[in-house]
Amino acid sequence: TKTERLQKIIANAGIASRRHAETLIATGHVKVNGQIETEMGIKIGPHDEVEVDGVPIGKEAKRYFLFYKPRGVISAVQDNKGRDVVTDYFKDITERLYPVGRLDYDTSGLLVMTNDGDLANHLMHPRYALEKKYVAKVQGVPNRPALAPLKTGVEVDGKMTAPAKVDIISTDKAKKTAIVSLTIHQGMNHQVKKMFKAVGFPVLKLSREAYGNLTLVGLQPGEHRPIKPQELQALR
Ligand code: URA
Repeated sequence: TKTERLQKIIANAGIASRRHAETLIATGHVKVNGQIETEMGIKIGPHDEVEVDGVPIGKEAKRYFLFYKPRGVISAVQDNKGRDVVTDYFKDITERLYPVGRLDYDTSGLLVMTNDGDLANHLMHPRYALEKKYVAKVQGVPNRPALAPLKTGVEVDGKMTAPAKVDIISTDKAKKTAIVSLTIHQGMNHQVKKMFKAVGFPVLKLSREAYGNLTLVGLQPGEHRPIKPQELQALR
């Protein structure tokens, strides 16, 4: 007879991140055995019934989507400044989805959206981190030696980054810009922008093109599609 804290139960059910679960509790969205519960940290046993917005947890079907996040959208389920958030693009889906990891507001590209907390935790755990391929437009015209440090590791927030794959896709000498792909496993805060900055080529535009075996092929910005069962197997 295991007991768990209320916010952990909600987060593990895939309804929200731990932080958002705390907000849901504090703002009266959560009932325990039919009564609104706003207290953090209360213990829930196997026979207690927890509801979020009137829907008992653990009863929702697990859903998995691949989303092409446009630029100018926040990777969250709500924004206190009223900006567009990723869930605005899933109004046709009844389950409560949330993003696995984040892309910056001004970054476009591939984001996994799910209500499966176990998969989300698994994917975000550094030990299982999948390859993520980014394509950046950078300021300046790098040659291969100039970008070589990215392959072995550069200092970001006082730590050396893990080895990465780098490819110069094209250069525009007239405009003094280049398109470069960078594939990394890690997910430090603003990592790609910081890595390019560390070698002297600041990022002007960034897109995530691939996440593990998933790519943006067939999607336009703002569109999503279900992740196929065989694609899901490869993610786990
Ligand atoms: N690295 C960044 O700098 N920004 C992103 O959005 C993703 C990775």
